[in-house]
Amino acid sequence: MTSTQQTGVPFERIRGSPGFNVNNLECSICHELLWKPVACRTCETPFCSICINQWLINHPNQCPNQCQIFAERKCPPFIVKLLSQLQIACFYQSTGCNEIISYEGLDKHEIECNFQSQQCPGCQLQIIKEDFDNHISNCTSIELTCQDCKIVYKRGDADRKHTENICLKEQLRQLRDEYKENKREMHELTLQLYEIRLLNRKEFIEIKLIEIAALADKRDTSKHQQ
Ligand SMILES: [Zn+2]
Ligand SMILES: [Zn+2]
Ligand SMILES: [Zn+2]
Ligand SMILES: [Zn+2]
Ligand SMILES: [Zn+2]
Repeated sequence: MTSTQQTGVPFERIRGSPGFNVNNLECSICHELLWKPVACRTCETPFCSICINQWLINHPNQCPNQCQIFAERKCPPFIVKLLSQLQIACFYQSTGCNEIISYEGLDKHEIECNFQSQQCPGCQLQIIKEDFDNHISNCTSIELTCQDCKIVYKRGDADRKHTENICLKEQLRQLRDEYKENKREMHELTLQLYEIRLLNRKEFIEIKLIEIAALADKRDTSKHQQ
């Protein structure tokens, strides 16, 4: 799991009363709370690093504030200090996490949060991390492959698609197929062997015929010479 922040952190997730105007900590690109900010060297405006990097893809070297050229610098320390005083609700509050975390600890918490969800490859539902292993070993939509007969079936269909009887029948069918295949191969090999023998015999006869012809020629020429 990686960081959940695609842009800034929504202001609604700030908890408690920070004692200063959080609107000053808004990213002017995504209009959310600055997340891992960097700033423009010229105008010192901070932006979420994700936001400014996306912006720079479409506007190379341009500052969103119309500065001559965008060069990145560290976010001004007073902004970093204000951000660090904030308390933020976990991204996974919608799936049940009630943690309120300091701005600086947010990333680490969310990467490890037990309430982040993952899609089940079977039923396609979003399952929270804590329940995931348990869900995977019980979900009726998960596909299983039998090691013996290689039939693929959904766990929930086992009593229709993969009973002990079906499994044994399938193994038997595969054995028969294998036997048939072996038999066919044997037959082909025998045929090949037969052809080779035939060829050898044919060659042998041809050689003999040539020898006989040569012998006859010799006899003819010696007759003429006499
Ligand atoms: Zn932003
Ligand atoms: Zn600028
Ligand atoms: Zn959490
Ligand atoms: Zn499932
Ligand atoms: Zn089986």
